[in-house]
Amino acid sequence: MSFVYGIVPSRRLGRSLGVSPIPFKLCNYSCIYCQLGRTYNMTNERKTFFPPEDILEELKNFIRIYDNRNFDVVTIVSEGEPLLYTPLAVLIEGIKKITSKNVVLITNGSLFYEKGVRKAVEKCDIIMPTLDAWNEKSFKIINRPYGKISYEMMYNGLLKLREEFRGQIWLEVMLIKGVNDSVESIKKLKEKIEKIQPEKVYVNVPIRPPAEDWVKIPDKENIEYAKKELNAYTIEKQAVGSFLTINNDYNSVVDILKRHPLRINEIKNNFKKSNEIIAKLFKDPKIEKYVYNETVYFRYKNWR
Ligand code: SF4
Repeated sequence: MSFVYGIVPSRRLGRSLGVSPIPFKLCNYSCIYCQLGRTYNMTNERKTFFPPEDILEELKNFIRIYDNRNFDVVTIVSEGEPLLYTPLAVLIEGIKKITSKNVVLITNGSLFYEKGVRKAVEKCDIIMPTLDAWNEKSFKIINRPYGKISYEMMYNGLLKLREEFRGQIWLEVMLIKGVNDSVESIKKLKEKIEKIQPEKVYVNVPIRPPAEDWVKIPDKENIEYAKKELNAYTIEKQAVGSFLTINNDYNSVVDILKRHPLRINEIKNNFKKSNEIIAKLFKDPKIEKYVYNETVYFRYKNWR
């Protein structure tokens, strides 16, 4: 198991060194736009999936090889939902002892209704939660939460986080054509977002292959409208930059694919034996080839 999956270019964070404490696609949502596919492994049970010492040891080794100058932030971002990891506070504090770079948590924001979860993330520098919905109905359509998680619980948790958290909150809204990109939807989202008072708002669009084929990128005018109305930055373009992994080999590509899909060109531009790697990916039954917006992506297969 590899917990540190290399330095990847991020549209919001610069060069991000990713750390993942959750098994592949274990989540309490099954968002229609998820770039990892549908969630078949749905749970709301928090656990120590892996010992934090093992994750921190791997991070230490990575930084020993590449040192602090090669990345801008350490990002806790899972191939599932990181708030489900029980020793999150130990992990965050451990990262802070290893590097002085900012620690960022990318999360669906679902579990901040629990006091212990809010406490666990208090040492983060930046928390990036998602808010795509404005009521129970839109929440169920877009995020498809597990069991009893209601919109009210999730949203009140975000408000509580705002009250207590001393770092920055950068909120992300995923805009989906015909689902939450109308003037009316954006106005309702605005009301909800204003109460959270995030330091930054990002409007994202599904640029990578989504879980559901019918999910589409909104029209330019709708994105522009949302950007203006929500006083947001947009991140509708792919990140540009290089990837850095320890081994620069097939397994390093697969480790990245578990966290996000890659285009052929991204592999060609970043990995030494890229032709060999691409040929192997085409044959690997664990890897899905997916054409989205006229581009071929490789994605780690989400087994039932
Ligand atoms: S987008 Fe995030 S929160 Fe939604 S299903 Fe995928 S991993 Fe879970």
